[in-house]
Amino acid sequence: MKDIGIDLGTANVVIYVKGQGIVLNEPSVVAIDSDTKKVLAVGNEANEMLGRTPGKIKAIRPMKDGVIADFDITGAMLDHFIKKAIGKRILKPRILICCPSNITQVEKTAIVEAAEHTGARKVFLEEEPKVAAVGAGLDIAKPSGNMVIDIGGGTTDIAILSLGGIVNSESIRIAGNTFDNDIVKYIKDKHKIIIGDRTAEQIKKEIGTVYDSSKEETMEVKGRDAVSGLPRTITVTQEEIESALKEDAMKLVRATKSVLEQTPPELSADIVDKGIILTGGGALLEGIPQLLKEELQVPVFVADSPLTCVAEGTGVLLNHLELLDN
Ligand code: ADP
Ligand code: MG
Repeated sequence: MKDIGIDLGTANVVIYVKGQGIVLNEPSVVAIDSDTKKVLAVGNEANEMLGRTPGKIKAIRPMKDGVIADFDITGAMLDHFIKKAIGKRILKPRILICCPSNITQVEKTAIVEAAEHTGARKVFLEEEPKVAAVGAGLDIAKPSGNMVIDIGGGTTDIAILSLGGIVNSESIRIAGNTFDNDIVKYIKDKHKIIIGDRTAEQIKKEIGTVYDSSKEETMEVKGRDAVSGLPRTITVTQEEIESALKEDAMKLVRATKSVLEQTPPELSADIVDKGIILTGGGALLEGIPQLLKEELQVPVFVADSPLTCVAEGTGVLLNHLELLDN
């Protein structure tokens, strides 16, 4: 009997199958026919359609801001991914799903029902920070404080853990997508060029930084001239992108500070010693660890595989079901 773990992220879904490891890693995107509401494509295939779809085909991210925008579509996406990951051979697996920490009870129930619908024997739901911590290799069962910041696409989860539980946490809507939007806005305001979200994400990954860009890298960017409406190519510098991202990066720093300020002193002392661990794709944004380290004066580390460590964490927890809440 195989158990499976699912990282149901706002940007990506990653699935872990016990005994096999990570078997699926695709964007959480669904393409639908907006007239009939029929699902046309899911994951990689649907992602290719984002921003490039003709009239009635709509590519959407059903989990976009860490809340479930559409239950039916989320259910269809989950169903598609589970079937793709395990095929039809496995009978009644146990499924551990890791969801954004700020979703409501109604949303939780909807996710569990969607997973049960695929034939699961038992569905466990666990909050992301705990699973991310475990996936990053932290021993959360000890009476010692650990701090994790998971920077995803739609949300950043900041949490202090001890004795297997979350002591204090906050989920904010400043994450990877926010930085993409900052870049879109900057290029529009400064260069009068309209670019799409995917181009902005590319710029972020290639030359984006939030800390002291002394390297002065540049990048050619193609977009649509806001005035003439014609395609145009411009060159943007790393320094410009840093200025575009800085304000929201500092909001993330301040949210982290406020979580630290509300933390019991003994646990704070542990964090000064052990540092903060960063997970989620946003941890790969250049300068994030340096900025947090400088502003908070504590050591900051990036997990080995920030994009897959939540799924790895589900793998560990499936072997230690006693660590789960439900
Ligand atoms: P979620 O858990 O919400 O699905 P992920 O942990 O998969 O999110 O992270 C997705 C986010 O990470 C996206 O906003 C993406 O742009 C960002 N990201 C991925 N790789 C990089 C990189 N190399 N540099 C900066 N951001 C990155
Ligand atoms: Mg995530």
